[in-house]
Amino acid sequence: MKEKIIIIGGGYGGLLCGAILSKEGYHVKILEKHYVYGGGLHMFGWKGLQFETGMHIISGFEPNGVLRKFYTYLGIFDRLNIRPADNESFDLFHLAVDGRKYLLAKGREAFIRSLARYFPDEEANIRRYVNKIYEICDSIALFNLRFSNNSFYDHSDIMSISAGDFIASFTKNKKLQAVLAWNNSLYAGVKDGTPAYIAIMISKFYIEGSGRFVGGSKQLADALATMIREGGGEIITGDGVEWIDIHDKQIRHVKTASGNIFTADRYISSIHPSMLFRIMDTRKIQRSYYQRIDNIPNSYSVFNTFIKFKPKSFRYFNYNYYYQEDYDTTWKYTDYTDENWPQAGMFITPPETGHDEWANKMIVNCVMKFETVKQWENTTVGRRGESYKAFKKRCEGKVLDMLEKIYPGFHSTVDDVISSTPLTIRDYLNVKEGAAYGTIKDCRNPAASHISVHTKLSNLLFTGQNLNLHGILGVALTAISTCGELVGMENLINKIHHCTPNSHTDNNA
Ligand SMILES: Cc1cc2nc3c(=O)[nH]c(=O)nc-3n(C[C@H](O)[C@H](O)[C@H](O)COP(=O)(O)OP(=O)(O)OC[C@H]3O[C@@H](n4cnc5c(N)ncnc54)[C@H](O)[C@@H]3O)c2cc1C
Repeated sequence: MKEKIIIIGGGYGGLLCGAILSKEGYHVKILEKHYVYGGGLHMFGWKGLQFETGMHIISGFEPNGVLRKFYTYLGIFDRLNIRPADNESFDLFHLAVDGRKYLLAKGREAFIRSLARYFPDEEANIRRYVNKIYEICDSIALFNLRFSNNSFYDHSDIMSISAGDFIASFTKNKKLQAVLAWNNSLYAGVKDGTPAYIAIMISKFYIEGSGRFVGGSKQLADALATMIREGGGEIITGDGVEWIDIHDKQIRHVKTASGNIFTADRYISSIHPSMLFRIMDTRKIQRSYYQRIDNIPNSYSVFNTFIKFKPKSFRYFNYNYYYQEDYDTTWKYTDYTDENWPQAGMFITPPETGHDEWANKMIVNCVMKFETVKQWENTTVGRRGESYKAFKKRCEGKVLDMLEKIYPGFHSTVDDVISSTPLTIRDYLNVKEGAAYGTIKDCRNPAASHISVHTKLSNLLFTGQNLNLHGILGVALTAISTCGELVGMENLINKIHHCTPNSHTDNNA
């Protein structure tokens, strides 16, 4: 008889672990505090439209893609509707200062060529840079679903150099440096701190196969939930864990908001570790351990603007648009003032049918620090007061003004607009400071910002975005690491490899 597992948090990481372990025959119970599972995959309905709240830009589903293999093993790949971004421009990077728009093409060679068009004198450097990031990615075992006894990253050199310095070691051209860091908001890149490996993995990952979900990210949560339930697992929503009872360096039971007590052989926490420490008696775990983790700084947050367009007023575009005021702003998105915010923004028209001509909606993410909304930190959802509402309206206006500069006449296309702030992310996802990507990794002290899947409690494992890497890729690789502790890492990796894409072979059969 396999073990009983309780997973705290039914977001992307919790659902992935639940799906792996259900497939491998464990008895899985997921406890989710929100009324619906999904976490960063959650969508909300407004004015007849569905909006993603977190995960928009995805990759890894191209033939041989790492997530295609993993999701095929889970049996969910064929349940997903994914639209690849345009080959010739999967991303557009717009520098307002000189009006340059860089179209970045998909695939290694095409990407190099697309950049060399703008920087012909730098072609050799661009090639060296791209070759290097591919070489590094090839050597990271888990990124390629290879088994290794080493830890997730075993590259002390790329752990301890910043992404900015790494890029600068290939070119002195400041404009090219900015362009090579075009998607740094996807990994909350900050000057001097963000380790090179994060930029390297995320850049290569998206160069290979950027895309979006047709109809939105909820389909991934639903596919995982179905898989868990089909495997006999249970997902309890609207009943978060409020207390964790510890005895003799083990979890004895967890207690939920409704007073239910659940026990299991093993527990997995996918929630922000600081929030986990707040629901346990931390005197029962090693002080230096929990204080180190609790003190890891968090990534910046995001002001999300959700726009409903008037019918047939704004054309759908099939790429991700990164806008930045100036070349120097790279790595400094949080250095804004009330007057000059937002200095950068990422926006998309999410695909709804797979062959959209007109966009019904747009989602705009602009970096925002928690400090910006700190004055309302003691308020809760729906009860933050008039000054907060006025603040949001002001920010929405600034975002629309930014879009008006990009698309003259933009205001006239907008039917209505709403927004969310770092407080929204904090309160809906229970994430410290509304950090978009959880705790940050810092190349100046990699060990201090490292969180292992192992904890100081013998029957508790960690998973989720706070460990190695966030997002659709990072959380998936970490779920494999976490579940590998139970199933056997080599065994799990082998099973994933034996389920080849487009075949429904079940390794358990
Ligand atoms: C605005 C925004 C945009 C993003 N865009 C992208 C993108 O384009 N591409 C990409 O790859 N990634 C993106 N991300 C990141 C991605 O969404 C996250 O990395 C990922 O969803 C994190 O998964 P997780 O399981 O670690 O955490 P979550 O998905 O946050 O799951 C944690 C779950 O735990 C629940 N929970 C918390 N406390 C408790 C408790 N006490 N008891 C029970 N349940 C609890 C929460 O309600 C939540 O459901 C974005 C994130 C944000 C915020």
